[in-house]
Amino acid sequence: MSNNHDHDHDHDHNHDHDHPHAEISHDETPGYYEILEISIRELLIEKGLIKPDDVRKQIELLDSRHPLLGSKMVVKAWLDPEFKKRLLANGNHGAEEMGISIYDDTDFTVLESTPDTHHVIVCTLCSCYPRAILGLPPDWYKSKEYRARTVIEPRKVLAEFGTVVPDNVRVVVNDSTAAQRYLVLPVRPAGTENFTEEQLEAIVTRDTMIGVTVPRIN
Ligand code: FE
Repeated sequence: MSNNHDHDHDHDHNHDHDHPHAEISHDETPGYYEILEISIRELLIEKGLIKPDDVRKQIELLDSRHPLLGSKMVVKAWLDPEFKKRLLANGNHGAEEMGISIYDDTDFTVLESTPDTHHVIVCTLCSCYPRAILGLPPDWYKSKEYRARTVIEPRKVLAEFGTVVPDNVRVVVNDSTAAQRYLVLPVRPAGTENFTEEQLEAIVTRDTMIGVTVPRIN
């Protein structure tokens, strides 16, 4: 699927859009990985190792995970100190308490940022990410640049995300693994004392739980 639009020529946007656009058509020749996936899937089904429905179920499970689950977790921790204690002590149990299964059998750890310590997460090896809570990682999280530079010059990387961490605040870079996933519990900003849960959830964006930015009012 190509998104390389040619913007050099003048577009006439007065024409009707009731025809399907070429870029969303699905009848393109499958690529290498698509063919590989289909071959392996069909082989596994043929060998009786998985059922056709298993793949669909797994995709449905993956698609049910979204950053809002993490936002709700953070807000619950902000509002309920006892829950926060349990969540920080054992992320898997904290998630289960909210009815969120850590379906991939990873250790899930929540890292509390404080006025003295700013946590950020990365996977230097590949793209390990708290998928059970946040869903799929953003493309930049998987980029070689983010993975390599975050451990070497975290403050510079954070500044590029618009997050200038004061010199007196310690930056801790947490390297995820296949067995260990992290989520950042950001600092609740001042001025949110009268916010509703929904208003709080809205400022706890995906990137604040990765730690490349912090919740902000406005
Ligand atoms: Fe990884």
